[in-house]
Amino acid sequence: MDLDWSPADLAFRDEVRSFLDEKLTPDLRRAGQLATSVYPDHEASMRWQHILHERGWAAPAWPVRHGGCDWSLTQHYIFSRECTLAGAPNLSPMGIRMVAHAIMAFGTEEQQNYFLPGILTGEVFFCQGYSEPESGSDLASLSMAAVDDGDDFIVTGSKIWTTHATEANWIFALVRTSKQAKKQQGITFLLIDMRTPGIEIRPLVMTSGEQVQNQVFFDQVRVPKKNVLGQIDDGWTVAKYLLVFERGGGAAAPALQVMAEELAQAAATQPGPDGTPLIDDPGFARRLADARIRADVLEVLEYRTLSAISRGKDPGSAASTIKILGTELSQVLTELALEAAGPRGRAYQPHATMPGGPVVDFTAPADGFVSGEEWQAVAPLRYFNDRAGSIYAGSNEIQRNIIAKATLGL
Ligand SMILES: Cc1cc2nc3c(=O)[nH]c(=O)nc-3n(C[C@H](O)[C@H](O)[C@H](O)COP(=O)(O)OP(=O)(O)OC[C@H]3O[C@@H](n4cnc5c(N)ncnc54)[C@H](O)[C@@H]3O)c2cc1C
Repeated sequence: MDLDWSPADLAFRDEVRSFLDEKLTPDLRRAGQLATSVYPDHEASMRWQHILHERGWAAPAWPVRHGGCDWSLTQHYIFSRECTLAGAPNLSPMGIRMVAHAIMAFGTEEQQNYFLPGILTGEVFFCQGYSEPESGSDLASLSMAAVDDGDDFIVTGSKIWTTHATEANWIFALVRTSKQAKKQQGITFLLIDMRTPGIEIRPLVMTSGEQVQNQVFFDQVRVPKKNVLGQIDDGWTVAKYLLVFERGGGAAAPALQVMAEELAQAAATQPGPDGTPLIDDPGFARRLADARIRADVLEVLEYRTLSAISRGKDPGSAASTIKILGTELSQVLTELALEAAGPRGRAYQPHATMPGGPVVDFTAPADGFVSGEEWQAVAPLRYFNDRAGSIYAGSNEIQRNIIAKATLGL
């Protein structure tokens, strides 16, 4: 996008750049550049959040009264782009970008005072407990039970695919508090301390070899009713509100644009099937050009969504469009990266990355980095991780259903 930046915007960009030059240490940059998915190395991500928080920039999109920044849209865009260009690690979205917004909208004063500052500093680290073994796309069919016991609920059941459950000290969970005619009713949104007795976490191993997702078991877990967000039995309202932030409200476009640019540069020297540079292959060049155009479209859509969110408005089904476009684009780019990597794309080199979780059952090959080029080393892992993009946060088929309903009235 060609932004007509004012002198004030350029001064802000320089301020961000010098902050990044000073604070983004080489190891933090490396963590950002070698991330294999939306989740970089956890320790590095938290360290970076701490540094941003000290500067007041950990959650710029939050309202100012809660610790956000009084920035123009252009400044938000500049900040996000400069962080991406500098290779800064992502922050975990579950707290800052997701549940925090629901706490601001539905939380009691006590909840806001406790959780929001903790989320900003990283002392409160949330994971998301929506999906269950029998309830994914049809989330409202969920059955993890919370039985009324005076001032508390007693929670029993299981959540699955819970990202970063092992790192989190809190989980925001949807639980069944009553059975009613409509399955969306009788669900309650509960904030559960992960250190409560009766919680067991079993890690799941991803196709990439990483352990980032988990299954979490709850056996008679006692949760105070003061941890209900919103109204008892009306958690679906909170859940739907939060999902919009999960699917939109971020800035995926700059990272995808950078990835496309790096790919274009690599393909300019990388030989294609006939020995000439891959970028001269019309099929490859067309697909890359198509991806770059889509990344620019995504940027405009994200910009609009950010504008809605910063004015306290619900971006609605635009969040679904962004989710589809962003995840499909990252899949196309990682496919092109693998193609460009050629035989080296087969190399499985998790030792060359800083994945979001420990890699199991892996012995590093003696030759270490096969290619010595980071984008190639990361390509296979990103390729595997990005397959999940069209599944998590509500599958892309479900997003298409939402758009069909919202815009076509089907
Ligand atoms: C990497 C990863 C991280 C995740 N992290 C979390 C997390 O932190 N917390 C959490 O709660 N969940 C998490 N999830 C779970 C995720 O939200 C679910 O996987 C997703 O909602 C799909 O549910 P499911 O896996 O049960 O598939 P299913 O619902 O069984 O769907 C299977 C297939 O059927 C299609 N389908 C289902 N219903 C329809 C329909 N009505 N119309 C058209 N197609 C349909 C789906 O699109 C999909 O292709 C994560 C998943 C992944 C892969």
